[in-house]
Amino acid sequence: MFDYLIVGCGLSGVTCARLLAENGHRVLIIDKRNHIGGNVYDYYNEDGILVHKYGPHIFHTKHKQVWDFLSRFTPWHYYQHRVLSLVRGKLVPMPINVDTINMLYNTNYSSENIREFYDKVKQPDIPVTNARDMVVKNIGLELYELFFKGYTKKQWDLDAEELDPEVTARIPIRYNRDDRYFEDRYQGMPRYGYTKMVANMLDHPLIHVMLNTDFAVIQGKIAYDKLIYTGPIDAFFDYKYGKLPYRSIEFQFETLDCTYYQEVATVNYPNDYDFTRITEFKHMTGQIHPKTTIVREYPCSEGEPYYPIPKAENKSLYAKYRKEAESGKNLYFTGRLGLYQYFNMDIVVKEAMELVDSLLKK
Ligand code: FAD
Ligand code: UDP
Repeated sequence: MFDYLIVGCGLSGVTCARLLAENGHRVLIIDKRNHIGGNVYDYYNEDGILVHKYGPHIFHTKHKQVWDFLSRFTPWHYYQHRVLSLVRGKLVPMPINVDTINMLYNTNYSSENIREFYDKVKQPDIPVTNARDMVVKNIGLELYELFFKGYTKKQWDLDAEELDPEVTARIPIRYNRDDRYFEDRYQGMPRYGYTKMVANMLDHPLIHVMLNTDFAVIQGKIAYDKLIYTGPIDAFFDYKYGKLPYRSIEFQFETLDCTYYQEVATVNYPNDYDFTRITEFKHMTGQIHPKTTIVREYPCSEGEPYYPIPKAENKSLYAKYRKEAESGKNLYFTGRLGLYQYFNMDIVVKEAMELVDSLLKK
């Protein structure tokens, strides 16, 4: 008999499991995959290089409570992510900053006068109702077309006009020379990898882990009081209102016989090739190795549900499932798939911490 059954061994499920166990609850956590960690799972490939099975994951947060919580389970490699974008044949900093503008237009702006440039191109008066206008409002049409239009189409197979503003709002426009991808105060990679961090989180006498176990198969066969579900909410309800759309990605890994392949961890390709970006893991993990592994990301529609698609009609479909979920007794949803939201790792941890807080008060 368990107090909680948690479906999904990703960061959201594991955070719930750990906090509930520390408060005396007996937890069974299951995953249909053959490994822990959900989409943050990493492993050493056949050449001994630490890679991320489900695409590059860089931890960053402004939430001290999330950073402090995870820091109990891992020391950090203090890495700050940098990205270049291949535009008009040049590798330039992304997010767009003063140097991006100078490299692209052969200008000589500084942080003091870059506003003059943006003021000439931006369209501050357009109403922002979609992911295209979110960008055009701040940097105008040309930069949008060079950096965002093609990438967004590849990533989502939708025009930016069809997506909610939050998609491109993830990428800031910089009025300075900061070339980091994220500005959060706390950034880093778990020093021994995400899988190790997650294993440490699960290492508690009141947590029992079962892998290769689909909820559908054990439902009704195991006794528990409360259920926390972190898989896709539409699957839980047997798609009764229809399928929630997700975007998937095919990851193509390649190991090369050289120490480094590119100058930064990630290079984005908004206008060339069918992949969106190439990431080289060693830049992120700090691993020293004579070879290097890169991954190319090819977005696709079939496959694992990696990205909820932020779009008004999808959100209204999700709202129906949400309503159904709220009427369930002893039933809780969290995580990127359970809440159908484009969450980063830190936010799924924060959501899970808040869910457990509310459960402990009941
Ligand atoms: P998941 O990790 O998806 O875990 C859900 C688990 O539930 C899965 O393991 C699944 O197998 C299991 N499951 C589902 N249904 C069932 C069932 N019926 N029975 C049993 N088990 C089931 N975030 C960042 O902060 N930084 C990044 O750099 C970053 N990069 C990313 C890159 C890519 C390509 C992707 C796709 C995401 C990225 N993210 C990043 C987001 C991050 O992956 C998620 O926020 C986080 O992993 C979500 O955790 P979760 O526990 O909610 O879901
Ligand atoms: N984006 C873009 N060009 C880029 C980088 C991002 O157009 O060079 C847009 C694109 O729509 C993408 C979104 O911004 O889906 C969010 O980018 P992010 O790097 O946060 O995506 P993730 O790492 O979650 O895949």
